Amino acid sequence: MKLKSDGHSMEYEAEQMVLLFFPNHDNITLKSSLSEKDGTTFVTTEATAHGETVTYTEKAETKAFSKRELGNLIKRSAYFALRPLSPLPAPWGILTGVRPAKLVRILMEEGNSEKEVRRILKETYLAYDDKIDLAVKVALEEGKHPRNPKDVCVYIGIPYCPTRCAYCSFISGTGATTKKEEYVRLLLLEIQRTGEIIKDLGLSLRSIYIGGGTPTSLEAPLLRTLHEGITKFLPVYSGMEFTTEAGRPDTITREKLQVLKAFGTNRISINPQTLHDETLKRIGRRHTSAQFLSAFALAREEGFTNVNTDLIAGLPGENFEMYRHSFDTVKSLAPESITVHTLYVKRASEIGQSGEDVSLYPQVSDMLAYTYREASAVGYRPYYMYRQKATVGNLENVGYALPGYDSFYNTVTMTDCANIFALGAGGVSRLLLPDKVERVFNFKHDDGYTREFAEVLRRKEEFYKIKA
Ligand code: SF4
Repeated sequence: MKLKSDGHSMEYEAEQMVLLFFPNHDNITLKSSLSEKDGTTFVTTEATAHGETVTYTEKAETKAFSKRELGNLIKRSAYFALRPLSPLPAPWGILTGVRPAKLVRILMEEGNSEKEVRRILKETYLAYDDKIDLAVKVALEEGKHPRNPKDVCVYIGIPYCPTRCAYCSFISGTGATTKKEEYVRLLLLEIQRTGEIIKDLGLSLRSIYIGGGTPTSLEAPLLRTLHEGITKFLPVYSGMEFTTEAGRPDTITREKLQVLKAFGTNRISINPQTLHDETLKRIGRRHTSAQFLSAFALAREEGFTNVNTDLIAGLPGENFEMYRHSFDTVKSLAPESITVHTLYVKRASEIGQSGEDVSLYPQVSDMLAYTYREASAVGYRPYYMYRQKATVGNLENVGYALPGYDSFYNTVTMTDCANIFALGAGGVSRLLLPDKVERVFNFKHDDGYTREFAEVLRRKEEFYKIKA
């Protein structure tokens, strides 16, 4: 891609539009120029792809543009120049942010009615009606949780998985037993110190989320040790949201579920990703769809009444019909929430490196539209949503939940309405300070975490900034 700007320095905005229509960075040349004449500001974009050139000029009355307004002018100009050159639709229009619902909330906070927000998203941001509907619904759900700096969620990361999925770039290992034991031993010290800080600061613990990796890749006795520590050191109380990502069905046993249940876990995730065994094999997951179904049934037998299931739209080799089968099967089990991700390919992952063509955009778009329609028809509500760069077709990941079953922790990760103390390898804490959200990073890899554990503990002292 060759990109040139003239009269402005917002190349990033123009580049975002190129990636929208040409995700594989094809041979594109784009020139974006800003000029002003007689009280009118012009942004002209000249886009060339595969030997064809389109020029488009966007104009607006000259004024003191905000950064957002100027960025939108540049994006709209690039959008209209690029659109005729690409076969890909752009259902989110020029809305490229990671959290589309955040813009909706900002527009509402600026005094716009819901009707006005919908008009702005359609006319200024060029979003399709179903995406507008989705963003507005998610924003309304998010708005139910006002910001409270006295609330905290604790995230506990377990960086181990039975095998590495081909699309995953998360730093996880399979972990020898002794390594896992040492990891949990240190993690408990970090949990203990965090419990003391929560008490010192007088914070309310709203949620515990054990994620990963795959927390249930710990064997039952070690899982028990971890949970004994959690209940000893953190102010866990009955009815508090307590989630464990059981994740990989091949790690789930009755004994492990009983440990989780005994220590207050009331929400678990069991993630098939797809109900097609050939795809599961292809993406490096060791389990089968039958294993998912029996793990789900086992969870119900053990009394779990809040189960989330994750699916991925756009897995390599999967068409719309295959996705529909997976979604319909999951829906027939009536989990309390269903989270649908769009395949996210980072360079570090196996699929990203192999350069495999994952541009299944039109079908993936249909998969997401189907999900929205079918999930809504049986009472699921979209309550959290984010987009990641490099997703197939730049599409979204959405959490749907039946009323009363949305995850507070998931909402916090989108809206920063509470603090997050993130423990373990890969943890990124978020502190609600008066003027900003400050991040505190743990070491990414379990080796770094155990080797530099004194530093991990030292960084916990940063949590006291909340008090200032
Ligand atoms: S289970 Fe999740 S964290 Fe583990 S390898 Fe697969 S995608 Fe990555």
